[in-house]
Amino acid sequence: MAQRNGLISILSLRCPKCRRGQLFQSGKISKPGSLFIMHPACPHCTQSFEPEPGFYFGAMFVSYGINTALFLVFWVALLLIYPDYTLSLLLGILTAVVILSLPISFRLSRSIWLALFIRFDPKASTKVDS
Ligand SMILES: [Zn+2]
Repeated sequence: MAQRNGLISILSLRCPKCRRGQLFQSGKISKPGSLFIMHPACPHCTQSFEPEPGFYFGAMFVSYGINTALFLVFWVALLLIYPDYTLSLLLGILTAVVILSLPISFRLSRSIWLALFIRFDPKASTKVDS
């Protein structure tokens, strides 16, 4: 199998060490809480996904950046589509965007944060699943 590059592995929510194992358990839309459950370790290379207690506190800042980018995109879109918007309309749209994008921003921010601290190991990537 061809190796994924780092950006693709982050966007596809893969382990940053082997770029093969999934970070999150497969969630179901019918059970929204299941969308936020991570594997404790990589199912492929056994890299721990919680290197220390409170590790993902920093992912909150990544999530803040993602949400700010989303706010700007939707605000500019609203300006172009409906220039006479009201503040309550803008706040309603932004609230809906935050709630609907929560599973994506939560997962992506954790994937980015983990990739900042765990380096790719080609040996872990080539390990054969048993
Ligand atoms: Zn792995």
